[in-house]
Amino acid sequence: MKLVRNSHTGRCVLMNNVRDKRKSDFSKECSDECPFCPGRKDILEYCRYEEVVNGKWMVRAIDNKYPALICDEERHNNGEIDYGKHEVMIETPNHFKSFYKFSEEEFKYILKMYKSRFIDLESEKMVKSVIIYKNHLKNAGASKLHSHSQILSMSFIPPELEREIEMAKRGVFTREVNILLESENFISFIPMDSYLSGEIMIKNKKYSRFDKITIDEIEELSVTLKEVFKKICRVYGEIPFNVYLHSLPRKVDIKEYRWHLHIIPRKGKFGGFEFGTGLYINSLDVNKMYENFMSKE
Ligand SMILES: [Zn+2]
Ligand SMILES: [Zn+2]
Repeated sequence: MKLVRNSHTGRCVLMNNVRDKRKSDFSKECSDECPFCPGRKDILEYCRYEEVVNGKWMVRAIDNKYPALICDEERHNNGEIDYGKHEVMIETPNHFKSFYKFSEEEFKYILKMYKSRFIDLESEKMVKSVIIYKNHLKNAGASKLHSHSQILSMSFIPPELEREIEMAKRGVFTREVNILLESENFISFIPMDSYLSGEIMIKNKKYSRFDKITIDEIEELSVTLKEVFKKICRVYGEIPFNVYLHSLPRKVDIKEYRWHLHIIPRKGKFGGFEFGTGLYINSLDVNKMYENFMSKE
């Protein structure tokens, strides 16, 4: 579980042989097998967060059984591994509900959990960055149907975030064009030059770090997420998607950076061209896509 640079390509890669043991579960039936459904007592041992309403849990964070990184401080200090904690955030007790159907209230529980786990994981001295991400359905990399996100702390800054930081240091930021929604603290838009087809960004207007999110902003973002996913559903249907959250690492200081979410509806697939060139083809007509998103229901 170490970050190494490939000597042939110069690319960084996280070596990890544990994750190969993961089991997929996309059964249409809510089976006893689902580790995220209510009633699993064994999970309580690994539970890091829970929001309980009227005696029932709404969201829960648990240790990831197949972590990308491990939290062994001694081995990290010896230089054997890179340090990190990896958790799964279960977003609903309902096996079948997803971002496409969550209410504002449900998004609020989810965002409060994101914030709490983010602050906790980022507080460790070895940790340099924390990322929250989500894979919805198999074609977006999920191994379970039951709606969940993941949070990972790292003793390094990953290349994607490092690149954004480098651009931000030079004063280069994404242009906020094709605006889908705008409220007091958030702006949702379709970037013109995204390297992935169909990307939507939701950007906070005030803060560079996610841990600063206030309860009012959580409420505002819940409304935004509900609206954005309603639009995605109307244009594409309930397709697979990825979400990831970028927040400026603690030890980096760029006043103009704003924490944000990337939402990637998975329209396209990757193949030899992308592997061979390191380039992704954005084949969507962004103007057309914007028109579709803004058209009345
Ligand atoms: Zn389930
Ligand atoms: Zn970003």
